[in-house]
Amino acid sequence: MNLLVTGGAGYIGSHTVRRLMEAGHHVTVLDNLSSGHVEALPPGAAFERIDLLDFGAVRDLFGRVKPEAVVHFAALIEVGESMRAPGRYYRNNVVGSLNLLQANAETVKAPVVFSSTAAVYGDAEVTPIPEDAPKGPTSVYGETKLMTEHMLDAFERAHGIRNVKLRYFNVCGAEPGGAIGEAHPNKTHLIELALLTALGQREKMMIFGEDYPTPDGTCIRDYIHVVDLADAHVLAVQALQGGAASSTYNVGLGHGFSVKQVLDAVDAVITEDGLPPLKREIAPRRPGDPPSLVADSHRIQGELGWTPHFTDLKGIIRTAWEWHRSHPHGFQK
Ligand code: UDP
Repeated sequence: MNLLVTGGAGYIGSHTVRRLMEAGHHVTVLDNLSSGHVEALPPGAAFERIDLLDFGAVRDLFGRVKPEAVVHFAALIEVGESMRAPGRYYRNNVVGSLNLLQANAETVKAPVVFSSTAAVYGDAEVTPIPEDAPKGPTSVYGETKLMTEHMLDAFERAHGIRNVKLRYFNVCGAEPGGAIGEAHPNKTHLIELALLTALGQREKMMIFGEDYPTPDGTCIRDYIHVVDLADAHVLAVQALQGGAASSTYNVGLGHGFSVKQVLDAVDAVITEDGLPPLKREIAPRRPGDPPSLVADSHRIQGELGWTPHFTDLKGIIRTAWEWHRSHPHGFQK
């Protein structure tokens, strides 16, 4: 299939582009490179440096490429930043997505796979969280993703554009072998920070809160490996290609690990390489962190036949370690 992938030079995007191409698809990547890296793209992927805010350029691209399906990652992703700069987030994520949908509606009307997030649930009351749990984002970031979900529904009603919305939990890991991995300009994610601490780029790990209502007092998250997540996109594209109706799926393992369990697993991986365990310090809670976020992912397993292969926490961390150890400064040499 001829696919357009927005944000394909980013962390999740670049892993997905590889899996889509391995599955035999032809991929054109649209990315403004605000946080992505062309080095992350595999040979054979066509690349267009375009900003989704440039409607004319996006429409022109649809006319030229005539994609049969669109996979839409391009977005700003930092929760904290979204609270400080809401305008930037609404403009990039909502207006950018609107431009994409409008250009699509005016040209090929291709089905869309959308990169959504567990942040749409906010402080969920049930755990594991099913897709029909109440929505209530606690951040502007989550709000922009939920607004885009609503726009997708409206464009389906008006223009017949089908969609699959994938709500990601905590994405981590890297393609085994260390060629590509997580390289965000601002680093906030637990596993990436821990591994950069192991490399000596930071002094110690802060544990944000030890007084949560969880077994060891630290927050629990559902850590999903980026390659398993990429596979979910391949299955979603195939389902849309086969005529499937629109659907929404959580993508997570269905069980969580605490911050302390993650740091213990990081210690286990790095000490095997002769490094000392990480220094840890208990710090205050980070504002906005819910105690536990775990996916109920039965729907995607049942309907799309998705099965996660990276279920062992140490194994997941080892793939991220291969990337960071071989690229201590990301894509910069
Ligand atoms: N966390 C932590 N120390 C850090 C970074 C993160 O204790 O240096 C905690 C954070 O408070 C949360 C969990 O690790 O409970 C996962 O955070 P991350 O930023 O990786 O993902 P999020 O769940 O916020 O999307």
